Amino acid sequence: MQPSEKQCPFCAETIKAQARRCRHCHADLSKKTLGVFAKTGITVVVLGIVLLGFGAYVASSSESKEQSEAQAAIDLCREHEASYTGPANGRSIISAACQKIEDELRGKFGHAP
Ligand SMILES: [Zn+2]
Repeated sequence: MQPSEKQCPFCAETIKAQARRCRHCHADLSKKTLGVFAKTGITVVVLGIVLLGFGAYVASSSESKEQSEAQAAIDLCREHEASYTGPANGRSIISAACQKIEDELRGKFGHAP
């Protein structure tokens, strides 16, 4: 294999390193790499929205409503973490975010909701 060549991850044929589409099996090689990054990015954006939503609840809700909705935010976060199938570093970002929500609630309510 030449330095300018690589192996197709789909059919294992040798192809050009710069190739975006395998000339043997016609797999789209640009999409696969992009997809992994896009998925991680989307996950981070979703978590950002969850955190923002949580912040808005804290600012505007009565305490009991706030607490149940905070619990819902944690459930959503843990659900998202459990169903996440992307790269391991993406999962640890989600875990850290869920943990942060729980820590903030523990500080606010004096216990885990
Ligand atoms: Zn191929």
